[in-house]
Amino acid sequence: MKELTSERIRQLPRYLFAEIDKKIREAVAKGVDVIKLGIGDPDTPTPDYIIARMQEEVTKAHNHTYPPDEGLKEFRDAVAAYYQKRHNVDLDPDTEVLPLIGSKEGIAHISYCFTDPGDVNLIPDPGYPVYGIGTKFAGGMPHLMPLVKENDFLPMFDQVPGDVARKSKLMFLNYPNNPTGAVATREFFQEAVEFARKFNLIICHDAAYSEVAFDDYEPLSFLEVDGSKDVAIEFGSLSKTFNMTGWRIGYAVGSRQAIEALYRFKTNVDSGLFKAIQYVGVEALSNPKMESFVKGLREMYRERRDVVIQGLRQAGWPIEPPRGTFYVWAPVPRGYTSQDFVAHLLEETGVVVTPGRGFGEHGEGYFRIALTVDKERMCEAMERIQATVQFTS
Ligand SMILES: *Cc1c(COP(=O)(O)O)cnc(C)c1O
Repeated sequence: MKELTSERIRQLPRYLFAEIDKKIREAVAKGVDVIKLGIGDPDTPTPDYIIARMQEEVTKAHNHTYPPDEGLKEFRDAVAAYYQKRHNVDLDPDTEVLPLIGSKEGIAHISYCFTDPGDVNLIPDPGYPVYGIGTKFAGGMPHLMPLVKENDFLPMFDQVPGDVARKSKLMFLNYPNNPTGAVATREFFQEAVEFARKFNLIICHDAAYSEVAFDDYEPLSFLEVDGSKDVAIEFGSLSKTFNMTGWRIGYAVGSRQAIEALYRFKTNVDSGLFKAIQYVGVEALSNPKMESFVKGLREMYRERRDVVIQGLRQAGWPIEPPRGTFYVWAPVPRGYTSQDFVAHLLEETGVVVTPGRGFGEHGEGYFRIALTVDKERMCEAMERIQATVQFTS
């Protein structure tokens, strides 16, 4: 019998959370009050000023037809204006900005534009799984760059062997970082630009959490660094900034060569974003209400973060508060794998967190807490943990 399913589908990793999902369903069926800190999806709504614009745009017949391949000029202009205002970065809206159906879409497709079979992409590990999956779909080989605590969860470029670097087409980076909550310095981004120049590769910076930060830390755009625009493409998203994960809108900015290649790919596989959504994107990024909305969002996550950090510390965890993203990345107590610990925690406390192994082999030994339930629920989760678990290293 011939195998119908493609090699590329068969090669996909088995769904790591299947086992934990089953345990959650069982717990819920037994009547356990489960607190879900697993999934990184904002729990608060899209701001009213954005919803109001959608209500208006969706009724206009001229928005119901296919959008232009390159995206609406108005949205590309709004992204460029936002980069100017927020990062002091100049972008040509016609050649350096491309709307995406959520940033995941662009991140998954960029490998098709640069990576041939036999080529290598440099992938941070632990990390967002899409970097490696996109690489393999295109026939490329991921080379993992470990993110470890001792190096503040920044990859060490000098640990990438020269022959690997020479075969590499893309390097993925992501700061503020999911899952570790780490943030990048300007010096680190500058080093990345030099590495990209030396080995002639493209940096793909995933900036999904560009507005989720605390303690006076302002996330940098990779494009703020000198020379970056020649070697880097940055993926931005409205998902986490405006609680719009379901709306599917993001963008790519930077290197003309990369934007042009991604544009050519996309015109052949998708037909762009609903025009009403692109106008909504203009509203989100240009309305002066953005500033106070983002301020409130940061304050909300900071409060929840502080509850978690204080709670874990009281249970014996040695842990520092993250300065970006809505995640806390914590070590598992001695004697557990990350999957065992997550199962144990669910059984004993009804609290669901994500095993670090789900983000790559170097995620083993950690678990991730998403700050996506309200402060009272977060307190409840911490009280349950303190009553049952004591950290030992
Ligand atoms: C959520 C997330 C994304 C995807 O965002 P969309 O724009 O909704 O596709 C990309 N990268 C990271 C690291 C994320 O956590």
